Amino acid sequence: MSNPIEAQARIDLAAAFRWAARLDMHEAIANHFSVAVSANGKRFLLNPPGRHFSRLRASELLLLDADNLSAGEGDCDPTAWNLHARLHQQLPQARCVLHTHMVNTTALCCLQDFEFLMLDQNACRFHGRIAYDRDYSGMALDMAEGERVARLMGPDKDVLFMGNHGVIVVGASVAQAFDTLYYLEKAAALQVVALSTGRPLALIPEAMAAVAGAQWRSYPTDYCAMHFDELKRILDQQEADYCR
Ligand SMILES: [Zn+2]
Repeated sequence: MSNPIEAQARIDLAAAFRWAARLDMHEAIANHFSVAVSANGKRFLLNPPGRHFSRLRASELLLLDADNLSAGEGDCDPTAWNLHARLHQQLPQARCVLHTHMVNTTALCCLQDFEFLMLDQNACRFHGRIAYDRDYSGMALDMAEGERVARLMGPDKDVLFMGNHGVIVVGASVAQAFDTLYYLEKAAALQVVALSTGRPLALIPEAMAAVAGAQWRSYPTDYCAMHFDELKRILDQQEADYCR
């Protein structure tokens, strides 16, 4: 029997999987989401191997211990273990870790020396929040890759652009991380379209982008939670088995 924090985390993470599939952020039966359920962040839930995001249910998520793989439940994907366990172990801001190859953000990760453009209001949400990995290192088949990725993110970034690969987003809750993932892909899609026109870009000046970024961070309503609660209500009406 799981405790109330773990039970809620299972429902929230299952909802994030279902919505990632609905929004075409998923890829076959690959990619992983995780969320911490212990105060020290080291016990976390992760999707089991071989399951499509659109069918995952709360009770199927694996409960793992970042300090001890063999103490966890069942098999997990080694690349997921090497990234997610290290991030939960080493980054206090990484209560929830979402990794995808969503197409627009990944396209930007494949542009030489690219830095996220302060092109529209949504892009300003990410002012000062993105770290960049310019050294694609293949599949994360050993712990050293997880250590390297955790070092690149450091304690004060919540988005990592992984060159030639995809993106990692972390957050204090599933709702916050999912909201970040959603707006990142929205802003990235706009940048891909704008860049594709070949016309000069009207970038927001750095000082103004910094102001707008601070405005987003101090926005008074708990917008992330409201957004995610509404997404769960839609699932409750249309595919309520996600929380079983
Ligand atoms: Zn990946």
